[in-house]
Amino acid sequence: MSQQVKFTLGADEYPHTWYNIVADLPGGAAPALNPATGEPLTPDQMAATMPAELIEQELSTEREFEIPGAVRELYARWRPTPLFRARALEKALETPARLYYKYEGTSPTGSHKPNTALAQAYYHKLAGKRGLVTETGAGQWGTAISMAAQLFGMDALVFMVKVSYEQKPYRRAFMQTYGARCIASPSIETAAGRAVLAEDPDSPGSLGIATSEALAAAAADPTLGYTVGSALNHVLAHQTVIGQEAIAQMALADDYPDVVVGCAGGGSNLAGLAFPFIGEGLRGGRKARVVAVEPAACPTLTRGRIAYDFADIGRLSPLVRMHTLGHTFVPPGFHAGGLRAHGIGPLITRCLEENVMEAIAVAQTDCFAAGVQFARTEGILPAPESTHAVLGAVREALRCREEGVSRSILFGLSGHGHFDLAAYQQYFAGELTDESLSDEALERSLAALPELVNV
Ligand SMILES: *Cc1c(COP(=O)(O)O)cnc(C)c1O
Repeated sequence: MSQQVKFTLGADEYPHTWYNIVADLPGGAAPALNPATGEPLTPDQMAATMPAELIEQELSTEREFEIPGAVRELYARWRPTPLFRARALEKALETPARLYYKYEGTSPTGSHKPNTALAQAYYHKLAGKRGLVTETGAGQWGTAISMAAQLFGMDALVFMVKVSYEQKPYRRAFMQTYGARCIASPSIETAAGRAVLAEDPDSPGSLGIATSEALAAAAADPTLGYTVGSALNHVLAHQTVIGQEAIAQMALADDYPDVVVGCAGGGSNLAGLAFPFIGEGLRGGRKARVVAVEPAACPTLTRGRIAYDFADIGRLSPLVRMHTLGHTFVPPGFHAGGLRAHGIGPLITRCLEENVMEAIAVAQTDCFAAGVQFARTEGILPAPESTHAVLGAVREALRCREEGVSRSILFGLSGHGHFDLAAYQQYFAGELTDESLSDEALERSLAALPELVNV
């Protein structure tokens, strides 16, 4: 076994294609439905918000999509990203496990999000759009879209959940540096925002409300292209550059993961890392266990229901079949902002149904403890979202110690936490609490699921 810690590919050794797991997953994907008719959304209806190439990818059963040259050239600024063996963390845990992590924090904005932001910006630009509009929670996605818009000579309009807008002025300034216009949501700029403010002038906002506002802004101005940070099939496919590189890097390490671990919000970084491994297994190759780690305060996969639901509280989105806590669900204000989604990518749901993925929910203070241990051993300060994956991997490693077996564990470190130090500060001050979701609150939001179907 090599003593190497960092597994580096050549400058040009990153993927030429995105991987579409639909080609290998039995039963494929569930179609999105038009809420007015209950019928599958047609490409024509999707064209209201999506360029033709993205519609094609969203509906495709092809195994691979060619990455356009212009996008690949921009990827080259930071891809391939490094894969590390966490020898210092292994030692601290006194585990016989072999721990590896794939680090996406080396992108210009500090997370995996630009992998799809650049792709979406490129296709909207081709379709003649002047600018991009989107919603953002913690600000990672808004920053990635702001950068992508600027690199393609476009404007960016970002509706940022108000509580994050106020708590994270540096994220806002980061977006402004790229030339974006960032608006606190709910805002008076859209009917959806005004409706929320009329009910509750002090609303802290939510991702669902911000999504309604971004969709409304795109509907009102056809020169703006609406972009999506996670969950949709094409977004998950764009992220598979992560896992494809990881397969090559694990080969350099002369190893193969028994377990792949990722944090799950909308599911994009998890899918990006895990889908290429799951695909190998589905095609008859080696099989890895895949573990999704989500916050106990927003337990979409472990306590949600599989149903057709809206992506936004304003019910402007199509209906998608996914694990959901209900589109009216507003999670408590815990710190992994990127994991505060009521729903998840339909392909993640399909993977759980096919038993090629499992899910666990964890408490945020345990996550921060794991994040601090990771920083003190490996040197990288993880994003609060990423600490969920760290904790999941640590638990797997400790199980190896208990069982006295050496397994290979690969986890996704989706981003760094340089803009999340206020949360670490609260953790060190002992001010972080673990809110759990009551059965009553969950029942209430599930009761608001659309009538249509429960399939
Ligand atoms: C957005 C974000 C996530 C969660 O989104 P997914 O689509 O589930 O990946 C996780 N980690 C980081 C660093 C993020 O910015």
